[in-house]
Formats: sequence, structure tokens, C-alpha cells
Amino acid sequence: MDKIEKYLAYNGKVSLICANTTELIEEIRKIHDLTPTTTAAMGRFATICGIMGLTSIKENDDSITVQLKGDGPVGSIVGIVKRENNISKIKTYMQNPLVELPLKSNGKIDVGGAVGHAGYLNIIKQSAITDSEYNGLVPLVSGEIAEDFTEYFATSEQKPTVLALGVLVNKDGTQSAGGYMINLMPDATENEITKIEEALKSAPSISELLSENKTLEEIAKIVTGDENIELLEDNLEIKFDCDCSKEKFEKGLISIGKDDLTKIIEEDGRAEIVCQFCNKKYNFNKEELEDLLKKI
Ligand code: ZN
Repeated sequence: MDKIEKYLAYNGKVSLICANTTELIEEIRKIHDLTPTTTAAMGRFATICGIMGLTSIKENDDSITVQLKGDGPVGSIVGIVKRENNISKIKTYMQNPLVELPLKSNGKIDVGGAVGHAGYLNIIKQSAITDSEYNGLVPLVSGEIAEDFTEYFATSEQKPTVLALGVLVNKDGTQSAGGYMINLMPDATENEITKIEEALKSAPSISELLSENKTLEEIAKIVTGDENIELLEDNLEIKFDCDCSKEKFEKGLISIGKDDLTKIIEEDGRAEIVCQFCNKKYNFNKEELEDLLKKI
């Protein structure tokens, strides 16, 4: 079962969030019919988007839009994250979900090759209350996703972060997926930082830890090197949640304008719109389209 837990280590001087997102990633794999390569890329991406919903969004109804655009074959990957109390709600899509690349020489999935090594990561934070927008754009480091987000946290948010993301996938689907994010408080000492660095050096990868069925608490201890971690929150969730509706797509059809809508009515007599986030289909018959035309 998926689980997300927040911990404090070193007497509150280090915070950490650990996530097992295996079920979520399997759900997204099925929605978008992802290949092993794109499951790995999307799994890493969706996991960090979901985590950000629980760490970067403070108010319900605020949202974060994440655009990862590399020069690789998968094209754009987009995630939209909202928060409802203890739940991070995400929806994601990828331009070319059917891309499949050969494994790298070390036997790992070539996520960097699929995403591309050049491009950018753009993160837009929208506040519902103040109606303000904050935009952080960084160039891609490697396209491997964890490194790219780490760069974003360091340069755009001035928040030194350790981030690990991992997905184990085979032709039967997602075997395990998850990640962790470690943040140091300003009062963390050199000694504590060194201890964490050493713990990380000897820690297995997050994919290995999850596939060995380690609990999040065990993972938190292993990656911080602190046996006395303190559980802060264990009722957190990351859910796939698309808020699309026929009304939203009606607005979309109205916005294409009188000429184009008339053309659709005359040429096709109907319209089928597929939500790119959840693949749900919405059908509009001729009468419905003519009603929309009257509203323009
Ligand atoms: Zn949808």
C-alpha cells in the first residue's frame, strides 16, 4: 500500500519526507498506457510532484504546475498538483507515452535519454488567496529528474535538498516506486551534515530499498544515519485526481471561436474531446455544439 511519512532527524535539525508511491504510479501507468521507460520517467516525475504537494503547498486550493521539457523523445511532461488537507492531488501527462529505449550499459532504464539532457524545468506556484504567481525556471542537469529537481530547489528556492526518486518496472507493470527528500534546517551542524553524507554514500538506492520491502521508517533511518528519528506525520496521501468535466471542455470549445466551431459542426457534426490528463472522453453532438455556438 502507498504510504507517505514525514520525519525529523538530528533533534529537529533535519526534516525528511519518504514516499512509497507504487500504487499511484501503477495507476498512472495504466491511464497513459506507459512503457517501462516512460513508467520510470513518469514515476519519478509524479512522485516528486506529489511530494511537493505536501511540502511546498501550504494552503488548500493553491496549486503547482510543473513542466519538464527536455530534448528527448518523450517530449513535455506536465504535472498539476493541488492540496486538500493531508492529501496531495496530482494529475500528469506526457507528450509521447509510448517511447521505449534500450537499457543503459549498467542495466538501468535510460530516463535521461528519454527525457533528454538539455531543456528546462519550469515550476509555477499559484496562490488561490492572493491570486499571485511565482515562477522558477532552471535548465535541466541530466534529465534523470531527481538531479533536475534538486537543482531547482537549490537555485530557485535556495533550499539545499537531497532528493532520491526510483521506480522498478518490468513488462508486468510497476514493481515499486517512491522517493525521499531531505532538507537541512539552518542550525544543522557540520558534524550532522557529514553523518548524512556518509549515510547516503553507503545507502542502497531508493528502488532497492523499496523492493527489499523496507518500511519508510527503516529507509528514513538508513538515509539519514540517525537511529533516533521522530515521526512527524503519517496520515499523508498522494492521489491521482483529475478535475476535468464536460463544462470545462464546453468552455474550451467556446474559446476556439465562431469560425472554427462552425467548421467543426459543418464538417464533423460532432466533437470528441479526450482529457490529456486522465484520458476520459467527452462527446458533443451536433445540437450541443450548436447551443455552444449561440453562446459565442
Ligand atoms: Zn481528466
